[in-house]
Amino acid sequence: MLNRRSLKDLVRPNIAKLAPYSSARNEYSGHEAHVFLDANENPYNSPYNRYPDPLQQEVKGELSKIKKVPACNIFLGNGSDEAIDLVYRVFCRPQVDNVVAIEPTYGMYKVCADINDIEYRPVLLDEHYQMSADALLAACDDRTKVIWICSPNNPTGNNMSTQEITAVLERFDGIVVIDEAYSDFSSAPLFRHGVTKYPHLIVLNTMSKAWGCAAIRLGMAFANEEIITLFNKVKYPYNVNLLTQQHALEALKNRTEVEKWVKLLLEERPKLMAAFRELPICLTVYPTDANFFLAKMTDAQSIYDYLVERGIIVRNRTRIKLCKDCLRVTIGTKKENAELLSALRQFKDK
Ligand SMILES: *Cc1c(COP(=O)(O)O)cnc(C)c1O
Repeated sequence: MLNRRSLKDLVRPNIAKLAPYSSARNEYSGHEAHVFLDANENPYNSPYNRYPDPLQQEVKGELSKIKKVPACNIFLGNGSDEAIDLVYRVFCRPQVDNVVAIEPTYGMYKVCADINDIEYRPVLLDEHYQMSADALLAACDDRTKVIWICSPNNPTGNNMSTQEITAVLERFDGIVVIDEAYSDFSSAPLFRHGVTKYPHLIVLNTMSKAWGCAAIRLGMAFANEEIITLFNKVKYPYNVNLLTQQHALEALKNRTEVEKWVKLLLEERPKLMAAFRELPICLTVYPTDANFFLAKMTDAQSIYDYLVERGIIVRNRTRIKLCKDCLRVTIGTKKENAELLSALRQFKDK
């Protein structure tokens, strides 16, 4: 591409000129203070009486060490879902711009496109659930602001090819989002370290999967500092509450425990997959780099219903493109996996 678009060409004009809300806690920064009469807070009921740090500096400091990304390249949100929505609100003009995404993939990219009234262009993966940079780029036009890639991909489980992702990064001059929600379970090269090299790259991570903190709602985006500044301008001022920030700081101290969980799950994964392959009702088990796998069954709907009857919930993906009769199965504890297998072995086709 000759005239590569700069970040300035990609940002919505109303966001580029937005004067953000300036919170009370932002304005005095740099000074030591001990009397806070600026935010109309109640002086009683410490520590919950005070607004939390709007930029979550302490959490970012810890994350920076673990993720090996500078704190100024980190955005924190109410789950990665907040970052996904912000990509649209910052870059995509409703009813004008479009985005391109691999298909099938995580459903929130399309839901947020629909909410923001942005055209969503899905590009089918191949028969090995692999993406093609050529196919994604062929779906783009001069109103394509974003390409969505998820690796390891949900619901297919596999990594997208590093070479194909790199080709998109080299050849597309809009925003490239790579969702690495499951990267803790994979040994593929990480793209989050590329945010200092590629100014148009956004990488998503979450505390919801390997870190075992889905309940606290903490997701992150790694990107060039200019993009982080734009996200901070558009987000709600106190988007990550104090309880979440406190719990995240605790959780981030338990790194060795997280590594133990990941190791356990990665040991269970091939066992459960091998057992699935032995089931007469299972036709294919697809390769995975995540804490779940996709399995093609004889009749996903009736097997799903049967499991629900027994209080066992897996994800029925049969109505998703390229996933006919597929169930997505999360790796659980040894005991949970055994219960699932025992139920499946007793399944009788009607
Ligand atoms: C689970 C998941 C997330 C996590 O979203 P949160 O809002 O952080 O819980 C993000 N992306 C993908 C692909 C996921 O599967």
